[in-house]
Amino acid sequence: MARYTESVCRICRRENLKLFLKGDRCYSDKCAYERRSYPPGQHGQGRKKFSDYGIQLREKQKVKRMYGLLERQFRFYFHKAERQKGVTGTNLLVLLERRLDNVVYRLGFANSRAQGRQLVRHNHFVVNGKRVNIPSYLIKENDTVEVKEKSRNIVPIAEAMEAVARRGVPQWLEIEKDKFKGTIKGYPARDELTMPIQEQLIVELYSK
Ligand code: SF4
Repeated sequence: MARYTESVCRICRRENLKLFLKGDRCYSDKCAYERRSYPPGQHGQGRKKFSDYGIQLREKQKVKRMYGLLERQFRFYFHKAERQKGVTGTNLLVLLERRLDNVVYRLGFANSRAQGRQLVRHNHFVVNGKRVNIPSYLIKENDTVEVKEKSRNIVPIAEAMEAVARRGVPQWLEIEKDKFKGTIKGYPARDELTMPIQEQLIVELYSK
């Protein structure tokens, strides 16, 4: 399956935004975007003017890459969001937030979504007491996500739990650090999703 294999910092520079794809490094002065906040490549510093389509495309690419998805997966979430009641753009963001790899990251059990995905695949978590190793698993309200007892001392999880204080845990999640357990209190409201995303542009792009 096609996967992005180049430096992920190039993605932040391309999208002109810190996407926090590299865990701790994103908060340090080693962050590539902090050092070179212009698009990568030979013409990166040239002036760019985007068409309406270009603006919509960049917004979609930004969100897709933020959550580490392929086009086909991203479209799948968009069509699912369209079929749900409510505002399609908000539905889309909520669906993306409900992915288990994202929840693991948001709870502070991983330093990035990519790391969250790997930890989930390696069987380090249980959802409602049952083993789940599918990163795209959609959590529901009142679900619990717990680090398996045997996995509580592994370095990536221990480091991530120390580092989470920097970014905090969102209000729609509750963390019991001593029990290595998180609970989904409810789905996030739009104003709780504070990333600079204009989801309407994505809806317009896919509605053409
Ligand atoms: Fe983006 Fe993090 Fe790389 Fe900075 S360090 S450019 S925020 S992935």
